[in-house]
Amino acid sequence: MIIFAGRSNVGKSTLIFRLTGKRVRRGKRPGVTRRPMEVEWRGTKIVDLPGFGFMSGLPSEVQEKIKDEIVHYIENNADRIELAILVVDGKAAPEIIRRWEKRGEIPIDVEFYQFLRELEIPTIVAVNKIDKVKNVESVIHFLAEKFGVPPEKVKETFVPVSAKFGKNIEDLKFLMEKKRKDHKTSRTR
Ligand code: GDP
Repeated sequence: MIIFAGRSNVGKSTLIFRLTGKRVRRGKRPGVTRRPMEVEWRGTKIVDLPGFGFMSGLPSEVQEKIKDEIVHYIENNADRIELAILVVDGKAAPEIIRRWEKRGEIPIDVEFYQFLRELEIPTIVAVNKIDKVKNVESVIHFLAEKFGVPPEKVKETFVPVSAKFGKNIEDLKFLMEKKRKDHKTSRTR
């Protein structure tokens, strides 16, 4: 299976719709009662995890609970997860990361990426909403540094996309297939 994770409102469901032609979201209600939503895709299953991080109107205990549930879900399914797509908002992410760091906290996206690395789940970072970003290269460079991705791995880790305008979706699909294939061969070796 392939999991999609990311903060609320980064465009996860729009992106899954672009990829699969299927709608995963029922209404706007975030987290809590939402189970991971599943759609079939190219012989596997895409799982849309609830959005994590700050959501206005949700108390912080609830936000923590959602995060814990996501973490448990991933830990419990780690053996079956062939690929993770971490979706970030290319416009908002750098600012949010800087803000968290200023407060002396580890930004949730950074923490989440490192968590996936620790579990050795192949991960692609889909940098979404690039239609709103002037210098996409510098955003990717910034994120790579924060996530601890070495320069030679940037191209195989980050894909700039615009889910809303259907930009670079083919690039994302291509990289997804490549990572799936690599993952399979590394397992059967
Ligand atoms: P989710 O909460 O991560 O599933 O986010 P949604 O898919 O519901 O999208 C949140 C908002 O971002 C919606 O208003 C989308 O139309 C908008 N959005 C999604 N992708 C893009 C994008 O690539 N560019 C822009 N400008 N807006 C986007």
